[in-house]
Amino acid sequence: SRAFNFSAGPAGLPEAVLQQAQEELLEWQGERASVMEISHRGKAFIACAEQAEHDLRKLLDVPPDYAVLFLQGGATQHFAQIPMNLAAPGQAADYLLTGSWSLKALSEAGPYVDAQSIASSEGDGFVDIPDAQAWSVRADAAYLHYTPNETIHGVAYDYVPEAGAVPLVADYSSSILSAPLDVRRFGLIYAGAQKNIGPSGLLLMIIRRDLLERTGQARARIFQYAAHAKEGSMLNTPPTFAWYLAGLVFKWLKQQGGLSAIARINAEKAELLYRTIDESAGFYRNPVAKRARSVMNVPFTLHDPELDVAFLEQSKAAGLLALKGHKLVGGMRASLYNAMPLAGVKALTEFMTEFARRHG
Ligand code: PLP
Repeated sequence: SRAFNFSAGPAGLPEAVLQQAQEELLEWQGERASVMEISHRGKAFIACAEQAEHDLRKLLDVPPDYAVLFLQGGATQHFAQIPMNLAAPGQAADYLLTGSWSLKALSEAGPYVDAQSIASSEGDGFVDIPDAQAWSVRADAAYLHYTPNETIHGVAYDYVPEAGAVPLVADYSSSILSAPLDVRRFGLIYAGAQKNIGPSGLLLMIIRRDLLERTGQARARIFQYAAHAKEGSMLNTPPTFAWYLAGLVFKWLKQQGGLSAIARINAEKAELLYRTIDESAGFYRNPVAKRARSVMNVPFTLHDPELDVAFLEQSKAAGLLALKGHKLVGGMRASLYNAMPLAGVKALTEFMTEFARRHG
């Protein structure tokens, strides 16, 4: 039977979605073939793709002056592709650093722009976010980049950075669709699919249309967001199966009551886990400043690292998967994406309390 999967990504999908995909796997919508075996340019797949975009627009209330793109390459490729599209060669581009992923975004932009960190919490080991008043954006910056949720460090912003006329670019890979957000505050939102959207191989981008008109840098058409927008994200063969599954996830989210409803469940899940950690009399510890604690990724350490192996073995045997922390921070990490039910977090916290009782 299926276990509760706390993986940081690729992560678990809603069981109802997997079941529907299983039922439709061999013959999809009267096509007498699988959705992954038919042309992306045929009527049936185009309708499926358009429906997914329509449902996503409804979920996030995406205004008409924003394009929605279904791309490939993962967030990592777009760390490099975003500066190519939004900035002239060597132009200023500002970054807020709150963990490994924003650091990587800065470093990958290096060959294309004058990428600078304007605020960083690295000195404290990435356990907090910068104060909103502690930084300012260079007036000539092509954009301001930040990472609303740092998957490895479990650090999340409790505010949307204000960059004035400079477009705000956000790597939402690990928190997209976990709560409502105001798309109008952003110039560009991007997210790898493999946490809250669907299988890996798909990248979702929401970009204000005026930014598609920026000249950017010399690059092939395949690297031009404007070309992808013009061709309906079908400049070349898209990851059709991942796109179809993302569409099923969007429908599932609507059935759950939309993003406000899912945000309430996510808050309840995270609150339960942080409370268990905080009330463990030091047996478990999360190092992140309270205001910056992520609702999606909860890293924690055991008071004695010698217990890590036993914790991992026993939690796995209890049907709680993938709790090993990232090697950069050590200890454990529980990722609580949308597909993780409250029952999974209850099972985890009961296990943790019992483990602490036995080993404390
Ligand atoms: N950004 C964030 C916040 C992530 O969590 C990840 C992956 O876990 C990435 C970027 C990299 O994504 P990809 O492996 O799809 O390039």
